[in-house]
Amino acid sequence: MSKPTWDTSRPGKHPALARPVTEDEVAAARKRTADLANSMGRAFMSEQEKWHADAIARAASHRANLELFTGLKDKASARMHREALVRALMDLGEFDEAGQHAAPKGRALPGCRIIRREIQEVRRAVERDDSEICGCAREVATIPHPNPHHHVQAHLVQLRRRYSLGWVFSKKHNKVVTIWRCRHCGDLNAHDLIPEGHISQIQHRALLEAEARRRKVPGANFPIDPAFGDQEILRASTQRR
Ligand SMILES: [Zn+2]
Repeated sequence: MSKPTWDTSRPGKHPALARPVTEDEVAAARKRTADLANSMGRAFMSEQEKWHADAIARAASHRANLELFTGLKDKASARMHREALVRALMDLGEFDEAGQHAAPKGRALPGCRIIRREIQEVRRAVERDDSEICGCAREVATIPHPNPHHHVQAHLVQLRRRYSLGWVFSKKHNKVVTIWRCRHCGDLNAHDLIPEGHISQIQHRALLEAEARRRKVPGANFPIDPAFGDQEILRASTQRR
């Protein structure tokens, strides 16, 4: 039997089941997150869910303040809240609304040109195909062998190419996903595909957590380095050079 061409590790990924997320589903996910954040269930939320709930609260607060200070004709305060609202809307994946606030009637407000370009870049990162990557080669570096007596001292490694720029709520995935950026060409893609380096980190963390539980260490916390990218150690060359 030939190997499937889709990701079999996640449910609902069969191409026959593929369908776009509806606005109702996005609204339901958002309501669930906000309700959970304001309940006793908050302790059970993941870091991404807490971040999403915070972005929802930020958007609501800055929207109300923008309205208030616009009414009071306090331009400086209104401008500050407008920029914070645009940032919150970008985090929520509401790119149309963010664009309307940054550039009403299609013209960027003073000081909003850069943020307008950022909106377009993040939108493209979310909407493009998850599997699209740039063609940049990984940089090769030489590291010493951990054993100073090993007969080969110089080992080639490929350095990480992408790093995580942060999170964004993707209406395409209906969840918070990571924005990955190539440090060579700046190529952006936002998705929930985990680079292999991360999988080994997650496995290592599970091991540390199990050990901490066994020893009854209170509050043991093992964060995963968010900048950990897709580096891969080349097969160590064992020939004498
Ligand atoms: Zn690149």
